[in-house]
Amino acid sequence: VSDKYAEPLNGVDRYAVVGNPVEHSKSPLIHHAFALQTGQDIEYSRVLAPLDGFAMTVQSMRETGFKGANVTVPFKLEAFHLANHLSERAHDAGAVNTLLFNTESIVGDNTDGVGLIRDIEQNLGISFEQKKVLLIGAGGAAEGVLHPVLEQHPQLLVIANRSLDKALKMVKKVEDQGEYRFVSVNAYAFDDLKGQQFDIVINATSVGLTDTKLPLPRDIFAEGALAYDMMYGRETPFMDFARRHGAAKVSDGMGMLVEQAAESFFRWRNIRPLTAPVRAQLRA
Ligand code: NDP
Repeated sequence: VSDKYAEPLNGVDRYAVVGNPVEHSKSPLIHHAFALQTGQDIEYSRVLAPLDGFAMTVQSMRETGFKGANVTVPFKLEAFHLANHLSERAHDAGAVNTLLFNTESIVGDNTDGVGLIRDIEQNLGISFEQKKVLLIGAGGAAEGVLHPVLEQHPQLLVIANRSLDKALKMVKKVEDQGEYRFVSVNAYAFDDLKGQQFDIVINATSVGLTDTKLPLPRDIFAEGALAYDMMYGRETPFMDFARRHGAAKVSDGMGMLVEQAAESFFRWRNIRPLTAPVRAQLRA
């Protein structure tokens, strides 16, 4: 795993995570573990792209023989526009976190949603079916998981966001598509959440990065509820709030991170790595 991308390598397929900042990304560790486990001879590095130079960075990567990339903050939207071909889930999400470079084209995919669903349903063993779900946030991460959550047939999905207009826009998009009439989908401001309880509460905001508290009512968690923070690597104020106010299960987003990486790895290498050993390795 190297931190440089301009060094030619001898026939090894190269991948990287591109972002700004990117130095703290765990993706090289995860993909290296997947490669060892599956016997794939790949190189995976971190690439810091200038804030105004994402397209140029991708161009250089293609010219120096990269086969694909993961895209992280703040370039997921740019990656969406840069791709010449989009998977259905990238199209639905309006954002791209995985790129595949072919000779003539750049294919964009989004594996965040499938990562979240696999972590909650398979790893934590909690089904979305007929549950009341609260999705907090209306940024790229929330958009990326919206359709995959709706596909699990919850009874109700409420999107709550500080800027209500963004949550309303997400609801309108779902309504216009008309695919999910079996689910009640609403947008609320934080104040409107008073008196409501949810079975699954997902924090898809970036407040954990600054240790900011969300203004949530104390009785937001229904009996047996899951509180899931997409942020990973440490206890966030949201996780602490959930533990103190009745959530039966509290999780960070480490599992989602590993699952989305596994799906990217599968897209690139056509082989699905086991995620449990890598989750354990990261926790350790
Ligand atoms: P964005 O910048 O696109 O969105 C940020 C969101 O956070 C917006 O909804 C914003 O609200 C909200 N927000 C920011 N500050 C505050 C605040 N002080 N109070 C209330 N709301 C606030 O970020 P992303 O959607 O890309 O990422 C969100 C989080 O998800 C990050 O922490 C990221 O690390 C994590 N993530 C984890 C993944 C994983 O695999 N575990 C994958 C992808 C993301 P507003 O619209 O009002 O500005």
